[in-house]
Amino acid sequence: MRPIDGIHHITLITGDARANVDFYVRVLGLRLVKKTVNQDDPSVYHLYYADEHGSPGADITFFEYPGAQPGQAGAGMIAAIIHRVSSEAALHFWQQRLGAEGITAERNDGRLLFTDPEGMSHELGVFERPDEPLIAGSSEVPEEFALQGFEGVRALVADPARSEALLRETLGFSELSDHDWEARGEHRGGRIIFERSDRLGIPGAGTVHHIAWAAYRNELERWRERIIASGGHPTHVIDRFYFESVYFREPSGILYELATSDGAGFAVDEPAETMGERLALPPNYEPMRSKVEPILTPLPDIRQWRPTPARTDG
Ligand code: ZN
Repeated sequence: MRPIDGIHHITLITGDARANVDFYVRVLGLRLVKKTVNQDDPSVYHLYYADEHGSPGADITFFEYPGAQPGQAGAGMIAAIIHRVSSEAALHFWQQRLGAEGITAERNDGRLLFTDPEGMSHELGVFERPDEPLIAGSSEVPEEFALQGFEGVRALVADPARSEALLRETLGFSELSDHDWEARGEHRGGRIIFERSDRLGIPGAGTVHHIAWAAYRNELERWRERIIASGGHPTHVIDRFYFESVYFREPSGILYELATSDGAGFAVDEPAETMGERLALPPNYEPMRSKVEPILTPLPDIRQWRPTPARTDG
């Protein structure tokens, strides 16, 4: 079996979809690559932000729970998302840009730390990696300063030792240093860094719901079998339309997903150039479009933040 290809996507909860789009598209310069609904509740959004192509490795998604109260990361939850940027100049750019938005961004140990409007922690850092930078086009953020995809996440757990066997023996991660684990595959690498905490987590707005690791379609069933053999309880393979998924809770309580990086992709149901602009509905909800669209939260027009097309003479 091929190794896990780093992080596929990270899914969070937002209580304010409108402010969420404003922050992740306008401020952070990501592309909204899919505006769809929760497959289990079509009255609320599932929003996917990523690089220009909606690539695994840069995909941060939000379930909308309108009016959800802010949560707080605790034991068994992801507490921070670490993104790659190209240079020290990029860190300086982001500190200025976030500051101008009234967001405190602090330098710490070579990284830039800040939170989104609902309290989710993010870190930007410069890392020497062979991975292709995953960049979105934005009218707001110059390409040289753009976020380049996930480096990893920080997770809070009561006892990091509990998660070791699953990562090392079942999923094939390597321990780079104490409690700092990397999944490195043919295309990308991604890390999960465990920090000890007994704090009780509160799920809610601005918290991570689950983290998905990238796998291949023809190996998803075999991953399931390995997880079962290790004592885990994975779901069946679920068709998420843009990719396929298996979910399971790891021993410290974090919800993991294995998602396919060679699935249909986000351009399967709309043109790649205009992805995210129109509401995409799973086929079974398409007949209800006229009923679904009016009850969804109105969102900003993301076309205003698309890069200006290059001018050509003549
Ligand atoms: Zn997911």
